[in-house]
Amino acid sequence: MEKRLRLAPSPTGLFHIGTARTALFNWLYAQKIGGKFLIRIEDTDFHRSKSEYTKNILDGLQWLGLTWDDEPVKQSERISIHKKYIKKLLECGAAYRCFTTENEIHELREEQKKKGLPPKHDNRHRNLSKDEIETFISQGRTSVIRFKIDEKKQIRWVDQIRGEIQWQGKDLGGDLVLSRRAKGFEIGDPLYNLAVVVDDNFMNITHVVRGEDHISNTAKQILIYEALDFKLPKFSHAPLILNSEGKKLSKRDCVTSIDEFRDMGYLPESLSNYMAFLGWSPKSAKSELLSIQEISEVFELSDINKAGAKFSWEKLNWINSQYIKNMESIKLSKIIGKYWDDMGWKPPSQEWAIKLAILLRDSMILLKDAIDQSKPFFLLPPIQKEGKDFLENKDGKVSLKLILNYLIEKNTGKLQKENAHAIINEISKIHNIKKGILMKSLRVAFFGCLSGPDLVQSWELFSESKSDILRIKRCLN
Ligand code: GLU
Repeated sequence: MEKRLRLAPSPTGLFHIGTARTALFNWLYAQKIGGKFLIRIEDTDFHRSKSEYTKNILDGLQWLGLTWDDEPVKQSERISIHKKYIKKLLECGAAYRCFTTENEIHELREEQKKKGLPPKHDNRHRNLSKDEIETFISQGRTSVIRFKIDEKKQIRWVDQIRGEIQWQGKDLGGDLVLSRRAKGFEIGDPLYNLAVVVDDNFMNITHVVRGEDHISNTAKQILIYEALDFKLPKFSHAPLILNSEGKKLSKRDCVTSIDEFRDMGYLPESLSNYMAFLGWSPKSAKSELLSIQEISEVFELSDINKAGAKFSWEKLNWINSQYIKNMESIKLSKIIGKYWDDMGWKPPSQEWAIKLAILLRDSMILLKDAIDQSKPFFLLPPIQKEGKDFLENKDGKVSLKLILNYLIEKNTGKLQKENAHAIINEISKIHNIKKGILMKSLRVAFFGCLSGPDLVQSWELFSESKSDILRIKRCLN
């Protein structure tokens, strides 16, 4: 039988890293077992769902390389089918109309709160007579459809990540609401637990892999599967992504949408590599730097941890820097070139762009680091405070004066990769100034600060129009 997995995002916000990691686990496992990876857009919350969020999610999946099979299914197009199944459950007596008003529910909650009990419906309309139903309807009361949950029922499944899980019917909050309120004998809009079962069955889903926040939903859904006589898929519940305080990663943790990671300068391959290791501890991976294709070859759901996975910027940054460092230089120069374009900076040649990319790649963590790090190659960088302090306090100005005089006297005008060390050695010897001080002073003149790529390698890339003499002179004023 064909193995089929799915991602079922609700388009009520931008593509979140938690959803992206669920997508990745589904994709990896589908690849591993030679199955299909499908998408279902759960867009039945009409107030909160937006087509731009659907686009954002699909674009994000594509950017991460998580390609899917077939056209995405839109849940909103299947509402009449969901209702048909609700009707079926009503007809076979597994579900019933419940006319409890909002006020009555509120009173019940308050009473339970006072007694320190968790919220739970009391199933008061489970056995209404025909007459009672008609009276409620004639009074203009609206109704939801509730699915009967047997309090004594034991629900068990073998979760592929967490092993055996057990739930008691009595812990599921009372009879389950399947549809929103509607007037008369109408059936209101179907709700998540019903729709998800009907659609997973329709899409022949064999493996449901989702976050652990859905465990209690799975217990409810298994009961609906049984009532509708549908074949159960295998369930897996992945641990949540946690922030540094061990709480669920949320919007308050600043960066959570895949767009934001992209805009900050993370590569899709590093983000997906990092996300795979968020909760997954392989027994047999050779390295922590692996493409999703390589990961899919060794990926097992049973290697996913049960405990929450702490998000670490440090680790993500390290992985991103490694991908940048190992990237093919032409490709990197093209990626960096887009940032230069945005800044209006024009590289003199493609060869120059590639050389600069090679020079910068060892010190970059994020792609956008290329902006700050390549600025001195396009513009005369302002001298920053640390640079100014160095020049004032550490023989910096004296050093620059000596270098300037040398360049003027010897009429070279330009420091070159080939002669730089000889010049610095000579000045250092004659004037008894440490080579380190001379080099650092030059660094301030060229980069405006004490950091930056290798100085000697940089010289051939500095633009002629902002000559070395000019760069040094401006520090001496
Ligand atoms: N729409 C649900 C969500 O985004 C889907 C959960 C599931 O995979 O069933 O959380």
